[in-house]
Amino acid sequence: MGKCFYCGESAGFLSRRHKVCEQKNKEGQLAIIAKTRETLTGSNAYHQLQDSIQATAKNCFISELDIPFLLAKGYDEAVENFLDDGLLTQEEETNAAMFKNFFTIQQDIINKNGSLEKIVKASVLRDLTEGKIPAQRLNIEGGVLPFNFQKGEQLVWVFTSVEFYEQNVKTHYEGGSSGISIKIAKGVYYRTSSFKGHPVKTTEMARVASGILAFTDKHLYFGSSIRNFRIPYSKIVTFQPYEDGLGIQKDAASAKPQVFKNLDGWFTYNLVQNIVQL
Ligand SMILES: [Zn+2]
Repeated sequence: MGKCFYCGESAGFLSRRHKVCEQKNKEGQLAIIAKTRETLTGSNAYHQLQDSIQATAKNCFISELDIPFLLAKGYDEAVENFLDDGLLTQEEETNAAMFKNFFTIQQDIINKNGSLEKIVKASVLRDLTEGKIPAQRLNIEGGVLPFNFQKGEQLVWVFTSVEFYEQNVKTHYEGGSSGISIKIAKGVYYRTSSFKGHPVKTTEMARVASGILAFTDKHLYFGSSIRNFRIPYSKIVTFQPYEDGLGIQKDAASAKPQVFKNLDGWFTYNLVQNIVQL
């Protein structure tokens, strides 16, 4: 006689689980995820949530070890919900922080799907749309950036491992016409979905270097072992959004289109659009 993996009772000859117990376990997991999402987007009653999770776990044969993962899933869903309109309110940011402090889930579990980063990015954008330079939310690994910022210039964001490409001479640049069309208005976030399926196509481009891309309130900086430069935003006439990159076109007639690849296109595009309007 085998014992049921869930309830521990006899499960019958050669059987290791009751169908009913397995079903109950699955439903319990989904209930915990849903309850977590609902609490985060609604009442914020985390003591209550904790009690309800304990009861469900006991009832549905869910191991203590699985609970952080279920909480993280609920958190992911809530963050998706928060950002559905592209905008993270101060209240949503506070709720997310309260949840994190209450449950103290390991960072690699809670950020498995990048939800912590999404929250940080969205709050940076919110500050910018409100005309504020975001408070420093970045921890720069290794410490020092390879750029000489001007006096009073403020760093807003840094990307590492960015691939820098330049258009080969005489090839056609698609500009804003055949890509997705986006209206520019102060403070507007563009839905993440409109960026999907529009990756940078690098076939016509030459890869120049891999390096660090930084945005301050005044300039865009790129630094690498091969090429280093700084461009004031006023010299850029077009920002081209891609799913995984940002294209720029400088205003000189001879300027070749340039693309920074390997970054979050939605975030970067919103970042520059809001910085230039500061
Ligand atoms: Zn059972």
